[in-house]
Amino acid sequence: MKEELLKDPVFGMAAGQFDRVADFLNLDERVRERCKWPKRIITVSLPVTMDDGRMEIFFGHRVQHHLSRGPVKGGLRFHPNVNVGEVAALAMWMNWKCALMGLPYGGGKGGITCDPRKLSMAEQERLTRRFAEEISTFIGPEIDVMAPDVGTTPQHMAWILDTYSTREGRFVPEIITGKPVELQGSEGRTQATGHGVAFLASRALNKLDLPVAGATAIIQGFGNVGSYAASTMASYGMKITGVSDITGAIWNGDGIDLNALQNHVAESGGIAGFTGADKIDPDKMLLQECDVLAPAALERVITKDNASQLKCKILAEAANGPTTPEADAIIEARGDIFVIPDILCNAGGVTVSYFEWVQNLQRFSWTKTEVLTKLETKLNEAFENLLLFCGEHKCAHRLGALATGIEAVAKVKKTRGLFP
Ligand code: NAD
Repeated sequence: MKEELLKDPVFGMAAGQFDRVADFLNLDERVRERCKWPKRIITVSLPVTMDDGRMEIFFGHRVQHHLSRGPVKGGLRFHPNVNVGEVAALAMWMNWKCALMGLPYGGGKGGITCDPRKLSMAEQERLTRRFAEEISTFIGPEIDVMAPDVGTTPQHMAWILDTYSTREGRFVPEIITGKPVELQGSEGRTQATGHGVAFLASRALNKLDLPVAGATAIIQGFGNVGSYAASTMASYGMKITGVSDITGAIWNGDGIDLNALQNHVAESGGIAGFTGADKIDPDKMLLQECDVLAPAALERVITKDNASQLKCKILAEAANGPTTPEADAIIEARGDIFVIPDILCNAGGVTVSYFEWVQNLQRFSWTKTEVLTKLETKLNEAFENLLLFCGEHKCAHRLGALATGIEAVAKVKKTRGLFP
């Protein structure tokens, strides 16, 4: 199994990062191995009746990296590239993220190999419900709590809630987070990840003594995270000069009108064809001069081929795993880019998911202002602690963030001991 996982480039990347940090922390060999490998890997086949009457089999995965600090927490992804290795890597990163943020969770991730853009909503509903049913014995509010990720939305979470609650014979809102507010989802959850990205980018600008108002930003990906990061940055007076999604990339040096872009995307399904900006090659967009570059789509987009050409002052890693280790080494050697590592940069999502779970368990709800204020307090605390740690240890931000998360998990493993 180890060899099989390591064959996947995304898992290989996460494992390589882990090894580097484990060396840095001088982790005891026994604890090191237990921290590195996932506790449970569940793969299920999902027979679904398609709209034309055919039956198609999809495959879904859920990886629970560890449960030593609490239930597993992590998103559910619908994407054609989903495989066990990628899901296991994302589950591992979730671990360190939850620990870094001080949340009482282990890390998990799920995914179904499919292209949601080619499925009708009725097909997506049947697929989601089938997945929820097949893994229902492995999840639970105290075991594994899912949330949205690439290709899934609050509506998918509502179907999972309904399937699980029907099975239990009672309403169980705490089984899932990122659900619609009318089903006891949290105020502020939809925008939480993007809001956190923008908030941390503004804190990084403060640290570099650069004004936030008027600062420029380029955002790759205009889904949940990218679009809310953009609108929150715009609300700070920042100028969004470049945006891309799977349909193409656009550029306007004077700043893109985000309301007009949102309307265009809602009508046409993508940013291609937007007339308020020029078309630009998506790869070249990443290399334009800006204060903040926020990759908010998929993994491994900042590579050894483009890292030396980046012209940003801040790299705000909104997506999970956007920077390869080779690119990381180049950025570290350059020393002129302030990196906000993914496990901190996009932690707003899981933090408000935690708030949602707490509200559900208490059958009590907080206002949006309460939620976003608590979120900013938590993110700021983690950000300041990271800068302190990196200053003390003279290390890069990624190493510092991973080391903080991994050390917290390792400590728990050591204290709990090995049974039997
Ligand atoms: P989403 O499905 O809502 O949006 C993904 C966006 O990326 C879409 O606009 C899509 O068109 C775009 N995209 C896909 N391929 C692209 C490409 N090759 N070039 C440019 N754009 C491309 O997904 P999301 O929830 O916004 O997640 C984005 C990233 O943020 C992922 O890495 C995810 O794991 C991470 N993340 C999400 C959350 C969350 O709360 N949703 C939390 C933490 C981390």
